[in-house]
Order: sequence, then C-alpha cells, then structure tokens
Amino acid sequence: LEQELLSYRELAAETLDGHSITLRGNVELAEEVDLALREGAKGVGLYRTEFLFMNRERIPDEEEQYLAYREVVERMAPHPVTIRTLDVGGDKLVTDIDLSDEANPALGLRAIRFSLQEGKLFNTQLRAILRASAHGQVRILFPMITGLAEIRSCKNLLEEVKAELAAEGYAFDADIQIGIMIETPSAVLIAELLAQEVDFLSVGTNDLIQYCLAIDRGNEHVAYLYEPLHPAVLRALQMVCRAGQSAGIEVGICGEMAAEPLYALVLLGLGFDELSMNAPYLPRVKRIIRQARRSEALELVTELLQFGTAPEVASCLQKEMQQRF
Ligand code: PEP
Ligand code: MG
Repeated sequence: LEQELLSYRELAAETLDGHSITLRGNVELAEEVDLALREGAKGVGLYRTEFLFMNRERIPDEEEQYLAYREVVERMAPHPVTIRTLDVGGDKLVTDIDLSDEANPALGLRAIRFSLQEGKLFNTQLRAILRASAHGQVRILFPMITGLAEIRSCKNLLEEVKAELAAEGYAFDADIQIGIMIETPSAVLIAELLAQEVDFLSVGTNDLIQYCLAIDRGNEHVAYLYEPLHPAVLRALQMVCRAGQSAGIEVGICGEMAAEPLYALVLLGLGFDELSMNAPYLPRVKRIIRQARRSEALELVTELLQFGTAPEVASCLQKEMQQRF
C-alpha cells in the first residue's frame, strides 16, 4: 500500500465518473508547505496563524507577520493559500495575550470575537495578510463566526485596511477572496444567509462537532460521545453544503474529519468541493476518491442519513468501505 500511495501524488483527485475535488494542506509553519506540495496538495486550505503567536514573549509585529505569510504564499504559488486570522482562546493560548479567566473558555472571548475586540491587533494582522496577497493567491478565513454582524464587521474593517494600504502605496490584491469557518450551530442554521456574504465556506469539524453535540473536544471523560458520524453532524454538514451550492460558492472542510479515509466517500457524497488536511493524509484520501464514483457516494449518503445513531451509521459505512476498498 505504501508504494501504491506514492503513485497518487501526481494524480488528479478525480472520481471514476469524472468529478473533481480539490485536496489542500493544513499548515502552521512555512516549512510544512513543501511537504504538502510533495503529497500533492493544490494549495493551503487552512493556515493556522496562531502558531506564529505562540510560545514567545511578544506577539509578532506587522513586518514579521507579513514576511511569514509571504513565505508560505510564495512557496505555495501558484496555488492559493487560505490564511485564517488569529484563532486564540478556547484551547489555544498565547503568552503575550492576557485572556481573563473564564468559566467556559470555549464559549467565551475567542477567535473572531477576540479579534473584533482587539482592533489594533486585528488591523495589524489584516495589513500583513493583505500585503502578502501581493505575492500570490491569498484567501482570508475568519474563524468561529456565529452571525452576519460579525462577518459584516470583518468586511468593513478589511475595506478600511485596504484604503489605508492603498493610501500608503502598498501593493495588495484588491479582490482578495474572503471566507468563513462554519464551526458553530448558529452558523450552520444560517449558512444560507452567511453564504451570500462571502466567497467560500470552510467547515471546522473539530469545533463544529464540539458545539453541535455539546462535547468538550479536549475532555477525555466525554470523548466517547465525540461522534463525527452522529446524525446531527451529518445533517449539519449537508445543510452547509446545500447553502454553499445554492449560493454558487466553494464549500470545504478543514477539520480532522477531512483526513479520515473512512469518511472520504461521505464527504464526497455530501457535496464538499475541497478537503483540507495535514499533508501525510492526502494520498490515502485521494486513493479513495479515485476509486469511487460520485453517484455511489450520493446513494451512500442518502442511505446513511436514514440511521438514527452514530454506531448504526458507522457500521453501514464500514461494511460498504470494506467491500469496496
Ligand atoms: C476546526 O475547528 O475544525 C478547525 C479546523 O480549527 P481548529 O482545529 O484550529 O480549532
Ligand atoms: Mg476550530
């Protein structure tokens, strides 16, 4: 199998009946881009910028951020790089950012909420991202969106930053694509409205499963209830894909669910356009895509959606996958 997997690197992520899907890499550091390219990634679907801020005394200034983003963008060119704005709080802590003690950090001041509250820090990051967009194809991704007001604020701030940079004579992509992460139940329920405001959606299943099932993603006592195949999760994913399709925009998935070969057929059948994952998983997922038919994936999803519990979904899916792969 290892030998076989090597051969997938150069091949297209296309089903037997000619349906293409975009496979991209998740990265935290510029060095990971080369690995993603080697494993066949067609771009970065999730660049987690918080790692640039972690394990250091002072957060990076605009110039340092710009250079870091630019390096990722240049290494990945001509493929797009999806830069996620700072996703701090919850389980992600930064020494130089003093988050107050909260009883429920996962429900507290984190991700986009934090950025919108810390105007200076957000402005600096948006400036750095826009400046990096002069060096390749960049897309901006906002984490943990729960409503229209947040995305509208982000868009307004982005326009302000563009005007600032233009006045200062900096080059940037004026038509930079913007997207949001779908990680909260509210975002799923209004995905149709959110999709009208952005160029793409990217589902963060790590958080979406946590919030959808009310299971702390890091709590071992309830880890057995963290079920990606829970009927509620599958329905949520279906809603998001349909919302994206009606709006005519790309829908991706960048949570760990995208990296699991067992789920590849399900995600294909649900209608995802893009799967983004850590580089080493890419060939395995591509192998499933290339040996599948989209028509079969659609039928499979219809069947799976009829079950009422995750174990029933899982056993049907496993049987199907064992027969076929
Ligand atoms: C997710 O929540 O699925 C995700 C990709 O973001 P993170 O794991 O960084 O929270
Ligand atoms: Mg997340």
